[in-house]
Amino acid sequence: MSDWDIGVFASIDAGLGVKLEVASDLQIPTIQLHAPHRSTRTAEQAEKFIAKLEALNIQLTAVFGGFDGESYADIPTVERTVGLVPIETRAARLQEMREISDFARLLGCEVVALHLGFVPHDTNSASYQEIIEVTRQLCDHATRNDQSVHLETGQETADGLLAFLTNVQRNNLFINFDPANMILYGTGEPIEALKKVGKYVRSVHCKDATWSDQPGVTWGREVALGEGQVNFEAYLTTLREIGYRGPLTIEREIPQEPERQKTEIGNASRLLTDLRKKIIGK
Ligand code: MG
Repeated sequence: MSDWDIGVFASIDAGLGVKLEVASDLQIPTIQLHAPHRSTRTAEQAEKFIAKLEALNIQLTAVFGGFDGESYADIPTVERTVGLVPIETRAARLQEMREISDFARLLGCEVVALHLGFVPHDTNSASYQEIIEVTRQLCDHATRNDQSVHLETGQETADGLLAFLTNVQRNNLFINFDPANMILYGTGEPIEALKKVGKYVRSVHCKDATWSDQPGVTWGREVALGEGQVNFEAYLTTLREIGYRGPLTIEREIPQEPERQKTEIGNASRLLTDLRKKIIGK
């Protein structure tokens, strides 16, 4: 891989990302994969998928976990339903995340990622300690598969996330930085946040959004890359400053409008390629 290869968030079966063929049509050389459903996570399917990646000359850079029952309808619903935080589903989802890690290993992928959910703010509370513990268990499983775990940003402020990473005390725990999520969730200016957490950033999303008029209470709005309030030139310049050289993975989750999704990802790829040329000269 070379520095800042363009990437796109993709799915095998029905999922939020685009099909591999779309990445191939748009000549996008890397993907992050939304983990397929349990029934599809077999050795046979993994082999088929690897063959397809090879045929299309696409490199897989991360497998993203997601769970049945998660909903991003509004911020309180995210709090109640997303990731390993909700107590009712925690044990089952930890187990499923372990299985996703095993499937990623079958695919030869060294990174698993997820939205952990809203970590409790009181760092002395029992529930905070429980989230620390479940994250350790996931990290330790990933270690056995020679993998890192990347936490998607958005639900925490940069300071909250830094404290959490420090408290977990695992050397394979890193960040998948998503600038649009900082805006959508109202958790902080993305460029400032990126500077703060920079040393932990090992993968990124390129997604755009506009701020809510009530940040942190209601959602901002996700928009096509270049049309929102993430300053992408400042974003890439900051990525260079923190020494980030991994892929620039475009995330545009409007699977209900596949034509528009493809067009907007193509536009995003061109915009990022132009900025890359300007900022690192290739
Ligand atoms: Mg994201």
